[in-house]
Amino acid sequence: MSANEVVIVGGGPAGISTAIFLAHRRPALADRIVVLEKERYPRDKFCAGGLGERADRALSAIGVRVDVPSVPVNGVSAAFQIGEIALREGSIGRVVRRVEFDRALALAARARGVRIVEGARVTAASTSPRGALVESSAGTFAGRAVVGADGVGSVVRRALGLPFGRLRAQAVEVDTEPVAGDRSRDLLHFEMRDRSFPGYLWDFPTVVDGRELVCRGAYVLHEGALGVGSGAGPAPDAERVLRGRLAALGLDPDRYRRKRFAERGLDRAAAIARPAALLVGEAAGIDPMLGEGIAQAVAYGALAGEYLAEKLEAGDLRFDDWDRRVERSLLGIDIRFRRRVMRAFYGAPRERVERYLLDEPSFLRFGMRHFAGRPQPAPDALRAAATGVLVVGRIGIERLLASLPPRAAAHL
Ligand SMILES: Cc1cc2nc3c(=O)[nH]c(=O)nc-3n(C[C@H](O)[C@H](O)[C@H](O)COP(=O)(O)OP(=O)(O)OC[C@H]3O[C@@H](n4cnc5c(N)ncnc54)[C@H](O)[C@@H]3O)c2cc1C
Repeated sequence: MSANEVVIVGGGPAGISTAIFLAHRRPALADRIVVLEKERYPRDKFCAGGLGERADRALSAIGVRVDVPSVPVNGVSAAFQIGEIALREGSIGRVVRRVEFDRALALAARARGVRIVEGARVTAASTSPRGALVESSAGTFAGRAVVGADGVGSVVRRALGLPFGRLRAQAVEVDTEPVAGDRSRDLLHFEMRDRSFPGYLWDFPTVVDGRELVCRGAYVLHEGALGVGSGAGPAPDAERVLRGRLAALGLDPDRYRRKRFAERGLDRAAAIARPAALLVGEAAGIDPMLGEGIAQAVAYGALAGEYLAEKLEAGDLRFDDWDRRVERSLLGIDIRFRRRVMRAFYGAPRERVERYLLDEPSFLRFGMRHFAGRPQPAPDALRAAATGVLVVGRIGIERLLASLPPRAAAHL
């Protein structure tokens, strides 16, 4: 059994970023941070690879550059039932292939002295006043603390008895050749015309082994995700939704390898820490509205690296304020905001939200600059925030009125 400061389960962007940011804060600890990854790099992760520049900025602030083949992204386009919009905001990010990105990130961690054990499938994790114990196919690892960065089906989360929450979604994708009508290759396209399900379809430009392809996918929220009384019926199968879209584009759905996986949003009601154990990335929960999770995983890593450095130094491993630390961070505020907008967007007020997005491009510009991690000019930010608060507030009041018995509503 090897003794470590921190045992990190999962070598995706959340686990590796946690290791890198912690090693940056406490270089002397680097060789006592161990990451256990069940696969061997290069390993794939089903993901469209749309990466906000804010993740690259956070990493490069501590001297880490992830240099992999990428498609540069300058903006987004969205098709709604009532109209379409395409906006550019300079460079806002890139599309990467996870098989390449995750390996390069892991190499950067190794270069900083972090130990990564590949082929180590974790089967159990427990904590006690003496610290954490993690059992894996590569042996048992002890640490002062364990970090669950093992993604959507987190074994650590289950082993520690932390509930999973309701914000689940299914996502399925294929890589196809481009077709006539595809948007420009510097845009991330969101196809949101179909209001029959809570979710959307996407077309992201990608490069696979040097070939210019398009990653097309469907993101469908689980019916319980919008909350009781949302009126949402059972969600359709994401694969069926994607097949319909491919056929409409003149592509034979059976010609492409379908890559299917679940996603999990950060649920306010579900705990993400125990003494000597905390969760990061999708094991904790990411953006439930669009299922964006790579930049969030890196943001979790930056936050957890700082948090762990502080707590290990102080010898305080209760971790009873980890959820509050997440909630109060930019990451937490962002996810909270998306949870609110999601309920309006995928709920009854959808048409009004679409109208607002089309009529008030400052909001999408605000979102793109946030995706990029770029400062927001104060007047634009205020305008977007004020209109957003008004729209979401009005929708909230309308929903409240609609939920009251007609007699009570008439008195208001
Ligand atoms: C189809 C699809 C498309 C997506 N597209 C995008 C996108 O375009 N942009 C975006 O930002 N996000 C996207 N996401 C979300 C994004 O992929 C995830 O949110 C992100 O990968 C989360 O990072 P993570 O490090 O928390 O988890 P993961 O990337 O899932 O990494 C978890 C790691 O833990 C390892 N692991 C799991 N179990 C064990 C175990 N028992 N023992 C040891 N190791 C284990 C896994 O092998 C993996 O390496 C997409 C998701 C899906 C499903």
